[in-house]
Amino acid sequence: PAADAPTVYARPGEDGSVVSYRARYDHYIGGKYVAPASGQYFEDITPVTGQGFCEIARGTAPDVDRAVDAAWAAFPAWGKTSPAERAVILNKIADRMEANLEALAVAETWENGKPVRETLAADLPLAIDHFRYFAGAIRAQEGGAAELDQDTVAYHFHEPLGVVGQIIPWNFPILMAVWKLAPALAAGNCVVLKPAEQTPASIHVLIDLIGDLLPDGVLNVVNGFGFEAGAPLASHPRIRKIAFTGETTTGRLIMQYASERLIPVTLELGGKSPNIFFEDVADAKDSFYDKALEGFTFFALNQGEVCTCPSRALVQRSIYDGFVADGLERVGKVKQGDPLDLSTMIGAQASNDQLEKILSYIEIGKAEGAKLITGGERADLGGDLAGGYYVQPTVFEGRNSMRIFQEEIFGPVLALTSFDTYDDAISIANDTLYGLGAGVWSRNGSQLYRAGRAIEAGRVWSNTYHQYPAHAAFGGYKQSGIGRENHKMMLDHYQQTKNLLVSYADGPMGFF
Ligand code: NAD
Repeated sequence: PAADAPTVYARPGEDGSVVSYRARYDHYIGGKYVAPASGQYFEDITPVTGQGFCEIARGTAPDVDRAVDAAWAAFPAWGKTSPAERAVILNKIADRMEANLEALAVAETWENGKPVRETLAADLPLAIDHFRYFAGAIRAQEGGAAELDQDTVAYHFHEPLGVVGQIIPWNFPILMAVWKLAPALAAGNCVVLKPAEQTPASIHVLIDLIGDLLPDGVLNVVNGFGFEAGAPLASHPRIRKIAFTGETTTGRLIMQYASERLIPVTLELGGKSPNIFFEDVADAKDSFYDKALEGFTFFALNQGEVCTCPSRALVQRSIYDGFVADGLERVGKVKQGDPLDLSTMIGAQASNDQLEKILSYIEIGKAEGAKLITGGERADLGGDLAGGYYVQPTVFEGRNSMRIFQEEIFGPVLALTSFDTYDDAISIANDTLYGLGAGVWSRNGSQLYRAGRAIEAGRVWSNTYHQYPAHAAFGGYKQSGIGRENHKMMLDHYQQTKNLLVSYADGPMGFF
């Protein structure tokens, strides 16, 4: 945060707030706000206090149709813009976001409940850099020409797909939108985006800021619930691709819808990421040890609502007691409080449903005999925060076969266990349906490398965790997804290859 930043941001609606919401957000279609065909709206609730703060249009199939029409109307012109022209626009979007970083960060904190120190320092800067990265990547992308013989050449061109659908979750509203929008727009596609019903206003605060930078219809937003608005989008006959981030069970449905039209699907789904601490971590109580303790505590980042949450800690038995004691001390220092207070490290869960799901998993953990070693309760922060959705950072000790080790809780709940040998660690790490993220901590570079290669996950952090740079490929093995996000390789998911096979020879081919 800037040196002159306040220590506590004013709440939206109060004097001095950097963000002001509209009372109502319609769909954003063809460059305008459009009322829902159903005439219905639903309430957007802040998890900070549990109170409603604006109304959101409740989208249904006719709204999706309208958005897809608007996107196709915009595509002939947008799809023909040059990469350089699109890059200029993407860079302008990044600049506009950067100039309004505090407003976007506070808006996202208010709607999602995550600490403003995170939205200011991580979510928004990452989103801004994402637009810049893909502005550069699309200009640097090259086609190819293969010389088949003296007179014959196979040219390869990248072409946009057309209109694509994108469905996102609520845990990083703006970042998840930008992970999808930046490459899709860079590649020359038009988009219909459906935000999560828990966090649509953050997306509209962004649209209000950047909407004028894009031609009308290039980016459209239809609000609403999964079955009412998401399913009609994913199964729409005139979209050319569907990109989805959310739960694994929903991902299966998305794939079914897409199979009707044989359109490509990319899925970023759930995880149950292992975080492995080898014994040499404790060789000295130095700054590296301190970093590893922070790595242990990272399960509480974003209230655990991260698809790569390091929700299973595997600690080598020889250092288990001492390392876990130090780790728990660090967990005890995680400051929970008002998400708009810059000193707050853990805020509110995003919704009441999520709060209840986490509390029910805490009961499941107790019932299956896991040992609760810290936390385990809803946190009452007093005042009007008492109505918000806060959960204490919670650590259970148990076995990898337990449900709290196998199922995604998506809360600040750590399942902790020990291992004896390197082989044990790898086999516990891989004993899961998921394969999204993992962490490995060791002072031994060869061990880090071997473990990193042996773990079945799309992203293995070595001696670090929870870093998401635009140029590092991100995605899942096993039931954590299909395809990748970030990195220029994902342009492949938003483009098709045109091969132009040209003969420059004048003579006949000699078959007929
Ligand atoms: P969710 O699947 O319930 O909802 C995600 C989105 O899908 C929402 O916009 C929702 O409205 C929509 N949706 C729900 N049912 C639908 C249907 N039948 N058809 C079309 N759309 C539908 O997931 P969630 O609870 O909002 O998000 C949390 C999940 O997201 C977690 O499992 C988490 O691991 C995952 N996630 C994954 C990544 C990743 O990159 N792999 C990133 C963030 C979150």
